[in-house]
Amino acid sequence: MTTRKIASLLSGYREKGVAKVDFGGGEPTARHDLPVLAKAAAELGYKHIGVKSNGMRFCYPDYAEQCMGAGFNDFSISLWGYPADMHDRMAGRTGAFDMTEMGLNNLVDFGADVCVDLLVTVQSLPALGDALKHLSGEVGVRKFRLWVFSIFGAGGLCTDMMPHLAQVGESAAAAYSAVRQDVDWVRTSHVPPCLLGGAREMYFNVSEQGLLVITPGHSFMGEDSPFEKGVHVAACRTCRLMDKCAGPRDEYVRIRGDGELKTVE
Ligand code: SF4
Repeated sequence: MTTRKIASLLSGYREKGVAKVDFGGGEPTARHDLPVLAKAAAELGYKHIGVKSNGMRFCYPDYAEQCMGAGFNDFSISLWGYPADMHDRMAGRTGAFDMTEMGLNNLVDFGADVCVDLLVTVQSLPALGDALKHLSGEVGVRKFRLWVFSIFGAGGLCTDMMPHLAQVGESAAAAYSAVRQDVDWVRTSHVPPCLLGGAREMYFNVSEQGLLVITPGHSFMGEDSPFEKGVHVAACRTCRLMDKCAGPRDEYVRIRGDGELKTVE
C-alpha cells in the first residue's frame, strides 16, 4: 500500500470512531515511512498505535526511539523458536535471535509496552518454560502471546511441526505458573480453555477484539483468518464455554482429530 492510501484509511476509520490501529506485515519495519504513519495516526487521535514486527530493526536504539517518539505505544515482537539457534533456523538467518533480543532490550529499556508473540512448534515446545523464564527474567518482557504453528500457507509443507494441543496446553499452563509473579499475562487464542487445566484465563477469543484486518487485496475480520478460525467439535456441543470459545482450528481437527477436546461442565 502507498503511504497516501494508508493515511486515507487511517483518516476514514478514525472518522468512524476507531481508536486502535496495528501495523503488521510482512515486516512493517522494512517500510521507510513507518514512523510517518505512526505520526499520522497519533495526529488523527488514535489512542493505541501498535506494530507487529520481528523486532530486528529495533536493535538500532535510534530507530526504536524514533518509532516511540512518532507515536507507537504497543510493540508485538515475534519469536519463532527458543533457544536462539531454533529461532535462527526458522528465520533462515544466523544471528536473527540476537538482533531481535537486542531490539527487545532497547524497547524495554526505553519503557515501551512490549509483548512477545512466541511460536509453538513440536520442536520448540520443550523449551517453552525456559523461553518465558529468560524473556521475563533477563529481558524484562511482561506480556506473551502463544501462537500454535499453523499449516496454512508455507507451513503446509511441515505438518510434523504442528504440536498436539493437549501437550501445548499442559506445557503452557506450567510455564505460566512458573513466571506468574513476573509477568502481566500470558495468553493464547490457539489452545481451547478445556486444554489449559487450571489456567483457563490464558484463553482469549479473537472475535471479542473487533479486529478488522486490512490488506492491499481485501479485508476480513480477525476471527475469519485461517490462523484463527475455529470449529466446534462433538465435545463442544454440551460445553458451557461454547459461546466464548471458537474451538480448535479446522486444520488441526483434520490432521490430529478431536479426541483431545473435553467438554467443560
Ligand atoms: S467449546 Fe469445545 S474446544 Fe472450547 S473449551 Fe469447550 S470443548 Fe473445548
